[in-house]
Amino acid sequence: MTMNALDRSIPEIAAGVASGELDPVALVSESLSRIAAQSSLNAFLTVSSEPALAAAEAVKRSRANGEALGPLAGVPIAIKDALCTLDAPTTCASKILTRAAKDHVGGSEPSQGFRPPYDATVVARLRAAGAIIVGKTNMDEFAMGSSGENSAFGPPKNPHDPTRTAGGSSGGSAAAVSAGLAPGALGSDTGGSIRQPAALTGCVGVKPSYGRVSRYGLIAFASSLDQVGPFARDVRSAARLLEVISGRDERDSTSSTKPVGAYEKACEASVKGLRIGVPSEYFGEGLDPAVRTSIEQAIAKLESEGVSVRPVALPHTRYGIATYYIVATAEASSNLARFDGVRFGLRVEPARGDLNTMYGKTRDHGFGREVKRRILLGTYVLSAGYYDAYYRKAQRVRTLIRRDFLNAFEEVDLIAAPTSPTPAFKLGEKVDDPMAMYLADIYTLPASLAGIAGLSVPCSPTPKTAERPSLPVGLQLLGPAFAEERLFTVAAAVERLCRP
Ligand code: GLN
Repeated sequence: MTMNALDRSIPEIAAGVASGELDPVALVSESLSRIAAQSSLNAFLTVSSEPALAAAEAVKRSRANGEALGPLAGVPIAIKDALCTLDAPTTCASKILTRAAKDHVGGSEPSQGFRPPYDATVVARLRAAGAIIVGKTNMDEFAMGSSGENSAFGPPKNPHDPTRTAGGSSGGSAAAVSAGLAPGALGSDTGGSIRQPAALTGCVGVKPSYGRVSRYGLIAFASSLDQVGPFARDVRSAARLLEVISGRDERDSTSSTKPVGAYEKACEASVKGLRIGVPSEYFGEGLDPAVRTSIEQAIAKLESEGVSVRPVALPHTRYGIATYYIVATAEASSNLARFDGVRFGLRVEPARGDLNTMYGKTRDHGFGREVKRRILLGTYVLSAGYYDAYYRKAQRVRTLIRRDFLNAFEEVDLIAAPTSPTPAFKLGEKVDDPMAMYLADIYTLPASLAGIAGLSVPCSPTPKTAERPSLPVGLQLLGPAFAEERLFTVAAAVERLCRP
C-alpha cells in the first residue's frame, strides 16, 4: 500500500483538512476505492458512497466559507452495523432485519435492510465533529460471537491472513481499520467485541467504562454490559474518537454525567511511577506461548520505563464465562423479543395459523443458530423455578468478580494482561464447538461484567513459523471505571516501546 494521506493518524488528517492541505473529497474517494478493491475482506455490509461524498463536499464548502471545522473534519469512519444510521440500512448482520423480496410480504423496498428513522447518538456526534460515515461494517449476528462467523452474510476476513478470523463480534470494523480502508471505526463491546478483534487484527480498540458512551441507537444485546467504543490504527486516533463520542446523553439514562477526560492529552503523559498489576489468572492454561512471550516483553519494557510491576489476584476469573453466558443470554432473550415480524424488517406470513404462528415462523427463519441458542438459554435461566439457581446466582458471582477488580485497584493503577489467549485462529476452526468459541473471550468477559475501562493495544507480533504467519498480539489494559485517561497514557507508551 502506498503512503497516502488516508494512512496518517486521525489528528493529522483532521489538521490537514482544516489547514486546506488535504481535500476531504479526495480522502473519502480514496477510502471508497480501497473498500471496493478489498471487497473480498467482507468488512462492509453497506457502503454509503453517495452520502459520504456529499458529506465530504459539505466539509469542503464549510472550509471555503471560513467556518470552524470539527475535530474529525473530513475523516472517513466506518460504523458497526449494530448502530442506527439515517442514511444506510442497519441489519445487525441478521436476516430478521433484512427484507429479502421473497420473504417480505407487502414491502416497498425489496432486498433492503431495516432503515432506522434516526442516527445513534454516537453517529450524530461523529457527524457533528465533521466525520464522514463511509459505510456499515460486518459483524456477528446481533453481536453474538467471537469470529464473525455468525454473520448472516459470511464472516469478515483478517487482512493479515484472509484464511483467519478478524475476531468478533466487531470483526468488520477491525478488518476495515487494519486494512486501511478507513482510519477509524466504531464497534460495540459486550464481552470483548471491540478488544478481541482489535487484538487479532493489530488495531487499538477501546471498551469504555459502563456509562461513558451513550447507547442510544445501539441495537441492544445485553444492556447491563453493552458499550460503544472506537477502533483506530494508533492510540492518539482512538483517543480523539473516544473524546468525541463520550459524555452524557439525555436519551440514554445510563450515560454518566462525569466530565469527559482529556484522552488525547493523556497520551503525552509519563508512565513513570505508575503501578501495574499482572494477574496470574490471565496467564494460565490455553494461553498461546508466543502470545505470552509478546505480552511479557511488553510488560518488561514498561518496567524499564519506570512502571512498577507487581502481581495481583483476580480469584473469581474462572467463573467469568459461566456468569457472562447467564447474564448476557438472559438480557438478550428479553431485548430480542422485539423482533417479531410486526415492527421491524422481515415478516414470514404463514399460509394458515394465527399471530403466534407468524411470530414463530418469522423468528425461526430470521434468527441464526447462535442467536436462537442464546434466546433459549436466556429464557431458561429466567424462567420460574430456575431463576434463583441460575440468574440470581450469576448476579451474585458478578458482584464477586467486580470486587476482585476493586480490591486489585486498591494496590495498582492499572492491570495488564493478554486480550486474547491466541492470535487470530482459522475460519472454520471453532464453528462447530460453541464452548471453544466462548473460551476466546476468557480474558475480556470479566472487565465487562465489572463495568470497568478496557483497551487493547498492539504489542510485538508472533514470530512466523511453519504453521502460521506472523500475527498481531494485543496487550489488554484494564483500569478502574472512568480511568480511561490512564489507559491512554500507558497504551501510548506501549505503542512507542513495541513499534518495530
Ligand atoms: N464474544 C462474546 C459473545 O459472543 C462477546 C460479544 C460481544 O462483546 N458483543 O457474546
